[in-house]
Order: sequence, then C-alpha cells, then structure tokens
Amino acid sequence: MTGNCVFCKIKNKKIPAEILFEDDFCFIIKDINPVAPIHFLIIPNIHFTYLDNLTDDFAPVISKMFEAAKNIALHENVLESGYRLVINQKDDAGQEIPHLHLHLIAGIKLKPLG
Ligand code: AMP
Ligand code: ZN
Repeated sequence: MTGNCVFCKIKNKKIPAEILFEDDFCFIIKDINPVAPIHFLIIPNIHFTYLDNLTDDFAPVISKMFEAAKNIALHENVLESGYRLVINQKDDAGQEIPHLHLHLIAGIKLKPLG
C-alpha cells in the first residue's frame, strides 16, 4: 500500500508538489482540489491509514500535526477568524487517500456541519 500512496510519493519526492512545511513528524501541502480559499493537508511522514490502529507510539505525531495546523492557521491569518479541521476515515466519510491526513479549511464562512 505504501508504495502506491500519493502522499508517500509526494513525501519521497517521486511526484512533484509544493511542500510548504516539513519536519520529522509531518508535512503540509495545498489541497489540489480546494473546497475553500484556504485548504491545506497536514500529513504524517509515516504511512498510516486508520485511527483504529492508533497506539501511544503515534501520539507525538498526532500532537505535532495539530501544532502544525495551528501554526499554518496563524501564518494564514485565520487563527482569530476561524478554521475547520477534518479527518476523513473510511468509505462513509469519503476517504480517498489511504494515508491519514488532517484537512485545514478556512478563509470563508463555512456552513454548519449539521
Ligand atoms: P480524503 O477524502 O480525506 O482522503 O482527502 C484527500 C484529499 O487529497 C482530497 O481533498 C484531494 O483533493 C487531495 N489530493 C489528492 N491528490 C492530491 C495531490 N496530488 N496533491 C494535493 N492534494 C491532493
Ligand atoms: Zn502513504
């Protein structure tokens, strides 16, 4: 699965993408099909598909992903106006890419979820 994963290929520079941030835990790219003026993907370096399999080992990565999200929200000047974080898991949520990722969506008044 890892070899065919788009996000692993981006991470390994096998396919081009503008990586806006990267550290030892995660990296950030712009979503190719944005649903709002600001739409980033915060992606763990490790290939990991489902939160089902989460263990304590992964806790620092999750923590760093949220920290990176907060930092890019600050950088994009939406820390005060607001932003939405989304993780899609499996079919009913419409998960397309089998590599865990956090969507950061902002820059417009978003519709309520319900
Ligand atoms: P999800 O439905 O949560 O799996 O979301 C996958 C997201 O990845 C979608 O919003 C796609 O637009 C986005 N995406 C797919 N391929 C790429 C790519 N090569 N570069 C940036 N974003 C991508
Ligand atoms: Zn992957």
